[in-house]
Amino acid sequence: MTQHKFLLDESRLPKAWYNINPDMPVPPAPVLHPGTHEPVTPDFLAVLFPMGLIAQEVSAERWIEIPEPVREVYRLWRPTPLHRAVRLERALDTPAHIYYKYEGVSPVGSHKPNTAVAQAFYCKEEGVQALATETGAGQWGSALAMACGFFGIDLEVFMVKVSYHQKPYRRIIMENYGAVVYASPTDRTQYGRRVLAEDPTSNGSLGIAISEAVETAATSGGRKKYSLGSVLNFVLMHQTVIGLEALEQMALAGEYPDVVIGCAGGGSNFAGFTYPFLHRNLTQGRRTRIVAVEPASCPSMTKGQYTFDYGDTAAMAPIVKMYTLGHTFMPPGIHAGGLRYHGMAPSVSALVAGGHIEARAVKQLATFDAAVQFSRAEGILPAPESAHAIRVAIDEALACKREGTRRIIAFNLSGHGHFDMAAFEAYHRGKLEDYDYPAALVREAMKHLPQVPAGVA
Ligand SMILES: *Cc1c(COP(=O)(O)O)cnc(C)c1O
Repeated sequence: MTQHKFLLDESRLPKAWYNINPDMPVPPAPVLHPGTHEPVTPDFLAVLFPMGLIAQEVSAERWIEIPEPVREVYRLWRPTPLHRAVRLERALDTPAHIYYKYEGVSPVGSHKPNTAVAQAFYCKEEGVQALATETGAGQWGSALAMACGFFGIDLEVFMVKVSYHQKPYRRIIMENYGAVVYASPTDRTQYGRRVLAEDPTSNGSLGIAISEAVETAATSGGRKKYSLGSVLNFVLMHQTVIGLEALEQMALAGEYPDVVIGCAGGGSNFAGFTYPFLHRNLTQGRRTRIVAVEPASCPSMTKGQYTFDYGDTAAMAPIVKMYTLGHTFMPPGIHAGGLRYHGMAPSVSALVAGGHIEARAVKQLATFDAAVQFSRAEGILPAPESAHAIRVAIDEALACKREGTRRIIAFNLSGHGHFDMAAFEAYHRGKLEDYDYPAALVREAMKHLPQVPAGVA
């Protein structure tokens, strides 16, 4: 009998997050002010974030204790299960062993509450009464709405307009938890009004929504802070509960992965799952391959440039060194909304540049092939984002079959796809577009990179 699930008791919930900063092979590049292009000071960041999170962003401590009120909320759904994909292995007829960590068991169906709860906690601790944020398809907005509800914080969400209209159920979840949701671009911010003046029919984008949320916090006279669901060091660190649990669960299974895989939009679920394994590569001589998967239509790591760029479209957010397609780049309308970001987390970018992480790009149709094959074997209908990781896990397992080798493959299933049924319907009707690399759009966007003085960078 082969065991299918490896479960941890609530008492095994991690007590500390893993911070990769002290283990990074190269020191981090400075974060620059969007106006002056000089390194930012804590005061600038303090307009947007509570000091507790700013301290974590630059912390050199390897382990940061998870506050008990955060662990208490985590216990609602953590530890999450690690599955052995026995039926998928059989369907693929592969000698590989395939494992997946399932984050779709959280109340909102993805990994995002792991940081949303922590961020709401640190805001509450410092007396912050209101937050502003953006959301694309609504995963991040629903996670933060739940967390703000738990800690008694008001939340305004700028939701990309096309999703606001196409995905009303995600909006209703946010409203159910008590958040106020606007279709971005709105006429509530200076930047939103500027976008609408240029194009009254604008569908919005994640970059525009970020700019609106940042402006809302920055112009609130200190009343509101801003919250971001990916990219920042502290967000990636909060997500390491995923990989720390997975390490223990792989030990229960009596195996250690040869390759670990995650999809990467801003990099948070990928880093959360893989950094604890990478820690062992960097400090204990392990040689696990670490693979980040992105869409071929928004390929920051595989086609972008490793350079300084703004975090948002309006050039109001800090400038960081990362793989980027240019902050004005508008990716094609793939259904994996959470992967439509022009950049990549600075630590993930640095580790890709240093050869510690492999990057792969896959096309939309192939990811849905994998999602459907996975659901027919394992039952779970994955989020289109997570399907990128599944695609590469299946490809690895098929390579094992061709080579006649048995590798241990583990991937992060970052969420379920229950709110993405329109995408699955399009797939089953043969109407799903298979976008290629948008070379001309990227070339154009690359002309707008900030000119950073050589002395600073
Ligand atoms: C948001 C999201 C992603 C992408 O974000 P990362 O920060 O790269 O993890 C991936 N999967 C799901 C299910 C998401 O909701």
